[in-house]
Amino acid sequence: MCRRAGLQDDGIREPLLAFGQNPPWAYTVRVSFETTLPMETTKADCPDVRRRAAESLLNHLPEPDVVAWTDGAAQGGTRQGGAGVVLQFGDEERKWCIAAGEFTSSFAAECHALAEMLGGLLSLLQDDVVPLAREVRVCTDSLAALKALEAGPTAQRHPICQTIWRRLEACAAPDRHFTLVWVPGHAGLRGNELADDQARRGGLMEQQETPIGLLPAVAAIKAAAKAAARERYLEAMDPAHHHRLATGGKTLQRVGRFSAAELVALRRFRVNGHTSCRATLARWDKVDEATGVPITPDCPHCPGETQDAAHVLCRCSRWTDERTLHLGPNPSLNVLQDNCEAVVEYLRAIGLLAPVMAP
Ligand SMILES: [Zn+2]
Repeated sequence: MCRRAGLQDDGIREPLLAFGQNPPWAYTVRVSFETTLPMETTKADCPDVRRRAAESLLNHLPEPDVVAWTDGAAQGGTRQGGAGVVLQFGDEERKWCIAAGEFTSSFAAECHALAEMLGGLLSLLQDDVVPLAREVRVCTDSLAALKALEAGPTAQRHPICQTIWRRLEACAAPDRHFTLVWVPGHAGLRGNELADDQARRGGLMEQQETPIGLLPAVAAIKAAAKAAARERYLEAMDPAHHHRLATGGKTLQRVGRFSAAELVALRRFRVNGHTSCRATLARWDKVDEATGVPITPDCPHCPGETQDAAHVLCRCSRWTDERTLHLGPNPSLNVLQDNCEAVVEYLRAIGLLAPVMAP
């Protein structure tokens, strides 16, 4: 799997953690972490909602003299890392980017961006370019990076996180305070968008030849294993193979009212991804095995209709009798929530549920 992930056998070398450089009491930098928004949001919320939640948090934080936005990017979460920085102070706005490793992880790329920003800020402070830096606000969209850093300078398990804490300390001054803020990514926050753009540019820059650290190696191996499993699944896509993947080959147990197979079918229909629907097969670029022709999403029984889960369940003319019997005359998709038993009976009647286990 290492070779599949593009890693040479001897290419992985994790730098030793530099313990003992600074004991915990030697850190003087004052840092606060803000990792929750005032309103709960999820990635599924539209960007406007998430942007407003972030803005309402930012409006309640201390007025900053310096605002930094950082972002990291990695192709597929494993390759061609880039780190982007936007630094705003006085009337100035500076943007730059660096490469963050041929092999990297999203987490490592985000951390490289934070470390790079602090390095840049330190030189600007030393050169007296930044007139005032009592309150420094750092915005990142990496919750994982902030949660890791929040554990404190001596609890860091990765060299890049240690670097961040050392650079924070190097920037310390008696009247200086850092607020590290998590903001949602891709929510239309201008600074975050600019940093994101820089990070992507950074990913296009020439990468240095460095030994591959543990984080990027793990990310690359995970991604390769996932791709291999998916490839095998899509290649075979027979019930036996799915059964092995889903159950580890163990005998199916009845879960509550439904068997495992029935639950899988119900869930697939709920997410509109059942393999009996041509729409699903077309989305997966499947080919008709008999003719070699790519499968189209059209229902062979109903001209002009897409054969997706809703069609099979609620409308398809092929199974009107079975549907009327089990689901009534004009069922809606609500039956998937309200009457799962009837759905299971219907799916069995139209041959989508093989009797995989004894009752
Ligand atoms: Zn149909």
